[in-house]
Amino acid sequence: MNACLMLHGIGPLPPHAGADEAPYWVRRETFDTIIELMRTIPARLTFDDGNTTDVTVAFPALVKAGLKASFFIPSARIGTPGYVNEEDIRFMHEGGMEIGSHGCAHLDWTKINDAEIAHDVMQSVERLSTIIKAPVRSVAIPYGYCDRRVLAMLRKLGMSRVYSSFRGPDSENTWLVRRDCIKQPMSREEILRIFTHKPAAAEAALNLLRVWRRAGNAALWAA
Ligand SMILES: [Zn+2]
Repeated sequence: MNACLMLHGIGPLPPHAGADEAPYWVRRETFDTIIELMRTIPARLTFDDGNTTDVTVAFPALVKAGLKASFFIPSARIGTPGYVNEEDIRFMHEGGMEIGSHGCAHLDWTKINDAEIAHDVMQSVERLSTIIKAPVRSVAIPYGYCDRRVLAMLRKLGMSRVYSSFRGPDSENTWLVRRDCIKQPMSREEILRIFTHKPAAAEAALNLLRVWRRAGNAALWAA
């Protein structure tokens, strides 16, 4: 039962990001704390949105520490200002990192129909597969917005692993993966609590309810 952490950008909020993204841009020290904790406590690390700090900050630090992570990239943003380009994606893949889809246009999949979800996911998967010359079959849900219909659609599209924003630790092989979002500000103690799976009781109960409402029964979670 290891924690799976979700990060976005590292460092000060860049010009391309909206003010609403500010909590998701963690300080360099926060990221360094995570790397330090990962040396002794096993955890999985994921990055959403394809910000350039994936390749300029996260990737070199991970390589230096001998760690791996997964990067989920909205394909419509590739090569636009503030986001990774094709060469960056290949470079990270060749450096041992997992490249996954984050949809194409970073849409709320609960608000569009099945055909639109299929188009958004498959277009992204095909573009990323072409870039890295290897199959891409994992996906992180934009905004974490999902329901039973969205999850059934991702199954139907053949996604081998789906990264959610439901919180809490998971066993290694679930199809739907829970993740804990690292936000700013977050103290070392708070991050350590995520690594060691100790949410407050009220928070744990709320998480259970949220998962049941939006993802349904255990069958959806199985690999
Ligand atoms: Zn995102």
